[in-house]
Amino acid sequence: MAQHQDGSAADRLRAALEALARPLSWEERAGCADTVARGGLTAYGLRWIDEALAAAADEPLREAVEALRAPVARYSGATPAERRELLRTIGDLLERAQNAAAEHGRSWREVAQQRDAALDARAISDLRSARRVSVKFVKGVGPRIAELLSRLGVETAYDLLTLFPRKYQDRRRPTPVAELRDGDRAGTLLTIGAEPKASRGRRVVTIRCAAYDDTGAVQLTWFNQPWLVDKLTRGTRLYASGEVERLGRNVTIRVDEYEIIGPTPDPLQIGRIVPVYPLTEGLAQATVRRVVSQAIERYAHGDYDPVPVEVCRRRGLLDHAQAIRSIHFPASMEEQEEARRGLAYRELLPLQVEVARRRREDTLDEAVSVKPTESALAELGRTLPFDLTRAQSRAARQILRDMTRRSPMNRLLHGDVGSGKTVVIMAALLAVARSGHQAALMVPTEILAQQHYRNLRRLLGGLGVEVDLLIGGLSTAAKETVRGRLVSGLTDVVVGTHALIQDPVAFRSLALAVVDEQHRFGVAHRSDLVRKGRGPHFLVVTATPIPRTLALTVYGHLLVSVLDELPPGRRPVMTKLATRRTAYQLVRKEAEKGRQAYVICPLIEPSEALDCQAAAELAERLAAEELSGLRIGLLHGRLKLEERDRAMAEFVAGNSDALVSTSVVEVGVDVPNATVMVVENAERFGLAQLHQLRGRVGRGDAPSYCALISGTRTKEARERLTVLCGTTDGFKIAMEDLRLRGPGEFVGTRQSGMPDFRIADVLRDVGLLELAHEDAEAIIARDKELSLPEHADMAEEMKTRGGPRSGPGPVG
Ligand code: ADP
Ligand code: MG
Repeated sequence: MAQHQDGSAADRLRAALEALARPLSWEERAGCADTVARGGLTAYGLRWIDEALAAAADEPLREAVEALRAPVARYSGATPAERRELLRTIGDLLERAQNAAAEHGRSWREVAQQRDAALDARAISDLRSARRVSVKFVKGVGPRIAELLSRLGVETAYDLLTLFPRKYQDRRRPTPVAELRDGDRAGTLLTIGAEPKASRGRRVVTIRCAAYDDTGAVQLTWFNQPWLVDKLTRGTRLYASGEVERLGRNVTIRVDEYEIIGPTPDPLQIGRIVPVYPLTEGLAQATVRRVVSQAIERYAHGDYDPVPVEVCRRRGLLDHAQAIRSIHFPASMEEQEEARRGLAYRELLPLQVEVARRRREDTLDEAVSVKPTESALAELGRTLPFDLTRAQSRAARQILRDMTRRSPMNRLLHGDVGSGKTVVIMAALLAVARSGHQAALMVPTEILAQQHYRNLRRLLGGLGVEVDLLIGGLSTAAKETVRGRLVSGLTDVVVGTHALIQDPVAFRSLALAVVDEQHRFGVAHRSDLVRKGRGPHFLVVTATPIPRTLALTVYGHLLVSVLDELPPGRRPVMTKLATRRTAYQLVRKEAEKGRQAYVICPLIEPSEALDCQAAAELAERLAAEELSGLRIGLLHGRLKLEERDRAMAEFVAGNSDALVSTSVVEVGVDVPNATVMVVENAERFGLAQLHQLRGRVGRGDAPSYCALISGTRTKEARERLTVLCGTTDGFKIAMEDLRLRGPGEFVGTRQSGMPDFRIADVLRDVGLLELAHEDAEAIIARDKELSLPEHADMAEEMKTRGGPRSGPGPVG
């Protein structure tokens, strides 16, 4: 009370705001019944607002206070649900006013103290308030640490609580030196016995240092960390872990992790399972642990939970605040796993809700009903030289059926390389052309566009369908002509690259948009293509087998058709790790039989120009040496359109024996006479990408080969490549790739819309994701706008974290 009577205007203002804050959290706990403040919150609050205004020193302060008036005035007359929302608004505005008041001419530290006091007075230190409180106000976080934490994306106290440990160290019971055994991996609590010494070898600097505990002495070694010499002095206590070597009485630990322990052992450092956080230069583990522990003590309470209580109960999830406490300082690894599961669900559910919402929105547009008089499938069947596989007919029928409806189709067609997806696409294109509308097929490379164009001209053109090509490499005049044909409706089917979605392109009546080999595209492109029509049907085609988790997240709003069967007569491509010599001998041998080969030269990212140059050089060298006498073609993205066209046409016609190329042929290219795929520096490619490259051969009925030349001899590289030799199952390969490289790389680029999971695990949490998918459906069916009180926290969470964070936005 003393400070209230202090009399200075600033203190009066703060006191008034505190008074206003005091009933808020209690009011919320009391179910927003307006019973907490005597006379009702409106009357009570307006009094304190007037008091605060009288004391506010300048205009910005007065404005901050004045902003509170409207929501406070509405409160008592509102329904409980509205009140809940109002309380939040009032809390936010109050926060702002208090900040303004506190910072009014005060030092940083005073501000912090003031805020602490204010928060104590409000007694709302829980997860909900943590979302609004700057991390600066967590005890122990000074300006410097706040700055370092912000580099890790931590701005609020809640961000700090959700800065999840990267891993853990079990320091419950450090091993005494006497019990260290040869070959163990162990952690020990030691005191440094002598100054460390550095010795320089040719490549490495070794630091050696004697240490001891009550049970014996040990030698510690570090490699290449010369700065340790200054850091470790006699008497320093540290926890060190690493591999133990014991030779008689000599014990050595090769330290791979250590932490200096203060003179009085900190219970956060030792005697428990210790979290290990992601760090940034200048920030110590012990510091993060300390401030996290402070944040937990103060904020990891209350009922803020992005997952509705009822769902938590049904799924048997740990309470949110409890899960946060346990993820940082678990008593056992079982507890940690339970916490992880609970938090993973809180990450996944909002994402799935977003997906479910998107799916609903997709169905709102009205599409053209595509109803050709004759079945496109039957008509196409007559012109094809082969029968469709069962999978092909099934997928085509699903697509044709979807397109008869007035709500836009949203379908993903997925089948491994060589499963014959093109034919299915063609059936859809034909149906649209036959019903008097237009269809667009978008592909990632000009080479693939040209190939599709040739095929479509041959097959659909023969049936009287008008097919056009639109790619960046065309002359301005040619592009102009095609655009004219599109807008006037002369074109039935157009194939192209992203040139299709550039601005001047317009259609007369776009009824179907197809994106082939979508894994090379970003999400934005797809939605742009859809925007060219009024809610056209949409088909996404991909060869990348998508693990269920990714499918539910990235494509959760799409229905899926799968080609789970290859056309008959295919033999698996023999895949070997090879030397240059054997690889090119094989090319020669096949060439003698009249077969052809691809030679893929390595990526020299990030420059496409360098890639192309490397391809040109490789072609020259092969022509002069390994493949002298053979006819060698060259293909890369920097060649002029006609040159590329010619190179591809020559290869298709069998006029070149080997086609040296950058990975531009990775997607879609189809030349059945090619039987050898040589990949130089294969280790530079992802497994899924190699699988795609390999898919360029084995398309005819002759035995085919894939020779992977590795530029390095490292064990990892060999092991990785060996996965390919052992299986032709695209799904297994994709999972392995995903495990090795993570989802971002896997789905293509960052623009794929794949979120970076913070705690959920794409591979392990499939089951969890399926549950979240189910719950999300139910939630959206009942409460599309998330306006029910039980969904308020989820809506709040989605404002900051919801949706694919690294993607540019929702899919069309
Ligand atoms: P992808 O699924 O990789 O796009 P494509 O559509 O390019 O595969 O087809 C691969 C090859 O298989 C092509 O040469 C195509 O003509 C051929 N093909 C497609 N369907 C069949 C079938 N049902 N029977 C025989 N060959 C087929
Ligand atoms: Mg294809």
